[in-house]
Amino acid sequence: MSSNTQELFSKLETAISYLPKTSQKKIRNAYDFSAQAHLDQKRQSGEPYVNHVIATAIILAEIKLDESSIIAALLHDTLEDTSIIAQDIIDNFGEEVLFLVDGVTKVSQIKLKKSTINLGSQQLVKEMESLRKLFLAMAQDLRVVLIKLADRLHNLSTLQYIPESKQFRIAKETMEIYVPLANRLGLWQIKSDLEDYCFRYLYPEDYNILYSEVSAKTVKGQKYINRAIKKIRFQLDESNITYLEIYGRTKNLYGIYQKTLLQHKTIDEIYDIYAIRIITPDTQTCYTVLGVIHNFWKPIPGRFKDYIAVPKPNGYQSLHTSVFALEGQKLEIQIRTMEMHQHAEQGIAAHWLYKEKGTSKKEFNWVGELSRLKDLNITELSNELKIDIFKDRIFVYTPKGDVRDLPKGSTPIDFAYSIHSEIGHRLIGAKVNQKIVPLDYSLQNSDIVDILTSKQSLGPKRQWLDIAQTNFARTKIRAYLKKNNAKQNILIGSKILSEELTRLNLSQITELPATKIKYLLDKIHLKNIDDVYLHLSHGDLSIKKIIRIIFPASEVLQSKKPIRKNIDKPSIIVFGQNQFLPFKLSTNCCQPKNPLPIVGYITRGHGITVHLLGCKNIKDKDRARLIEARWAKNNPHNYTADLEIFCDDRVGMVHDISEVAMSHSINIISINTQQNSDKYGKIIITVSISDLDQLSSLLRKITALPGIQSVKKL
Ligand code: MN
Repeated sequence: MSSNTQELFSKLETAISYLPKTSQKKIRNAYDFSAQAHLDQKRQSGEPYVNHVIATAIILAEIKLDESSIIAALLHDTLEDTSIIAQDIIDNFGEEVLFLVDGVTKVSQIKLKKSTINLGSQQLVKEMESLRKLFLAMAQDLRVVLIKLADRLHNLSTLQYIPESKQFRIAKETMEIYVPLANRLGLWQIKSDLEDYCFRYLYPEDYNILYSEVSAKTVKGQKYINRAIKKIRFQLDESNITYLEIYGRTKNLYGIYQKTLLQHKTIDEIYDIYAIRIITPDTQTCYTVLGVIHNFWKPIPGRFKDYIAVPKPNGYQSLHTSVFALEGQKLEIQIRTMEMHQHAEQGIAAHWLYKEKGTSKKEFNWVGELSRLKDLNITELSNELKIDIFKDRIFVYTPKGDVRDLPKGSTPIDFAYSIHSEIGHRLIGAKVNQKIVPLDYSLQNSDIVDILTSKQSLGPKRQWLDIAQTNFARTKIRAYLKKNNAKQNILIGSKILSEELTRLNLSQITELPATKIKYLLDKIHLKNIDDVYLHLSHGDLSIKKIIRIIFPASEVLQSKKPIRKNIDKPSIIVFGQNQFLPFKLSTNCCQPKNPLPIVGYITRGHGITVHLLGCKNIKDKDRARLIEARWAKNNPHNYTADLEIFCDDRVGMVHDISEVAMSHSINIISINTQQNSDKYGKIIITVSISDLDQLSSLLRKITALPGIQSVKKL
């Protein structure tokens, strides 16, 4: 073994220390096997050929690939360039390694033709696209792509030994086929390295100019970065913040070139030639560190990006900010956790490395990304990508045949939100393989999912939060409920108050002098009248209290006779937030009749009108004003009962209780939940019942639910 080879090989041995001892031993065997096979071969540089395959394996060990990939990297040129045959590889290393080596050999045949380079730009783009597809189709396994990328990276690093006539073609081919693949797979380091090598051969003059410009800055820049890091360390230590690493990085040359070119900037105008990266133990600390930095270095407006809360489409997460640092110089700072960092460095490989830990379920749609490049149907694709990362994912189709990649257990709700949040918000039902399914149906591989939407949808319901499996869908639902409920509840609250004031023959809020309103707001510690309505609709402020404050001398409260208007019209129930509401029937347009589906519409100033669900008069109206309504089954002589339920504070409890009530055709008039301690909750529900038998049956059923401590009638 030459000393050079020896040195490389010990570097590989260090790099594979993340693998178990048995794997390390097999890798050493593979090295011996490969060294023997390439024994008399030399690279164009004059080095022993085996150096190339060790270098390739090191690149892959740096992104922590599995044993088979490292072995295949060591053997990747044996089938083509030596006397080794397939059976030799099977005998020594098994089918899987052969499959990978064979894959690398096949994709190596994909080459950019000279004639292609000279094509017009539009045709060139098309040709390149199909070459990338072909590449993926032939690779069959993602690890083949990764090995090939590493192989190409090392070849480029020794491109100066290749005849000049070939250099340009190889650089061009790399830039057009390999760089986009590295980018798609999220392998930033490999991508930047490939780019810088290609840059040198594709635009030699620009490269030389930029190279000397940047080098001139490097020494000065490095000193500056070191001082900046020292300052950050000091400040973080002062604030007692734990961090894992802080270091400076230089943007890759081609990246700088692109910025100068595309954004017409001079090199002095680019903030992120140098950046400082801070690695933290957890997400919370990222934000704490950001706060500390912004406290001593002023942030540059518009340069802060929160890719943690809103990851890039390929899953990249980090906080980026640019600040006026020491001596007022602009400096980019990136803050991320170790896991985010590994993810950014290892790209797609991180997905199977970290899936075991299960700390976070990232929704990285890489199969979708791949299938966009590659015309293969998804079953084939998952059979061929023999990697186990599919274990906790499912693949389903849209009716148009597009593939969606979702976590296992996802429901039609998750699917709808994965397409578009508006689709989710308008969801009224779902068909799977042409059959209607319940919304909590658990999607299966290769299901064709058709989401039924309606403009008249009432928007997501609170129970959906229990059904949806993805954080993505849940976040969207929560945001919608928060926004729309507030709007709707203000309307509801104002309506409730207005009706009561009319009934008591008192002035409306709008007719009161401003001083009186201010007096009211001060008394109940609220900021504005909308807040009053909001609290009214939530039931944590009583009408009685408001009236007592505004009309203290009024005798009217003596004659209080709370009237529920819908007792006169018992056949319909209109639901507000946890309560049912007064309404009018639409008489001019659709004239609803039982049992046709109906919907409430909150008019401006005239309360709620009930229409048929399909009525054309509400078709184009603001959806936030629609409110759930349905025909009541109970008779007009119902009475209400309050039930007090002590139960475990578990997800879905309220949902289960309402289900039980609904299955008994009992209407719930209101539900109030309180948390008593960390573990137990108290729920008070008001139900409308027809007789005591019905009530005792309901009590029995609720008691039987999991997690119920006690139920009693108040
Ligand atoms: Mn090679």
